[in-house]
Amino acid sequence: MHILVTNDDGVTAPGLLALAQEIRKIEDAEVTILAPDRNWSASGHVKTMHRPLRVKTVELPDGTSAFASDGAPSDCVALALLGVLDKKIDLVVSGINPHANMGHDVTYSGTVTAAMEATIEGVPGIAVSLETPDGFRGQQDYAPAARIGRRVAEQVIQHGLPKGTSLNVNVPYLQDDEFKGLRVTRQGLRVYRDELIQRDDPRGRPYYWIGGEPPTGVSEDGTDIGAVYDGYVSITPLQLDLTAHQFMSELNEWDWQN
Ligand code: MN
Repeated sequence: MHILVTNDDGVTAPGLLALAQEIRKIEDAEVTILAPDRNWSASGHVKTMHRPLRVKTVELPDGTSAFASDGAPSDCVALALLGVLDKKIDLVVSGINPHANMGHDVTYSGTVTAAMEATIEGVPGIAVSLETPDGFRGQQDYAPAARIGRRVAEQVIQHGLPKGTSLNVNVPYLQDDEFKGLRVTRQGLRVYRDELIQRDDPRGRPYYWIGGEPPTGVSEDGTDIGAVYDGYVSITPLQLDLTAHQFMSELNEWDWQN
């Protein structure tokens, strides 16, 4: 069982190391890390096509070695699966992101799109994110979320995932004995509070910054947001088919004949 661990926060991020250390404990697991050499958070699903990609070896704080690439998270997965790593990859686990990826976040998330890239290549993908409370200062404790990531990975190894499906795992910021349990959920509704900030640069030209408060969400039963807000680990099966199936018949009745 050859498992690729990656992330979108960069190869030196503590969430990646915590996850890799825990995934290494899976029986018969061989773990390889190939992650971006910088932070690609909120980069969405990227395929770098117009510049070359480099891969180098780096040493992590625990003395293990990892590969780092100047590509995006999804590029890292593609590189690994297309042959940069000689040995076939059986599972991709991405994270641990320091912030939750729930609701519409999944379309922005580098963490989640790394798992989606694995799915496109026919390999099961899991994304793991931690709901660090707003305003939290200091170094997060990733260990409980890493243990959840390992549990989910073990389940995926045992059961497999249907074609085209990945798992998006969001973990509340709690200790092991504080989790209320694990819940299978659907995507909830994020509420973004983005604001346009306009200032002038030193030469008097305007520049723009998308600022504002961090997003909140509608805490609805059955959703990722509802579960995490209630203290449950949320596991959402994601598919790449974004078709709005329920709208197709109405759309068909529009006037398409002229
Ligand atoms: Mn990130």
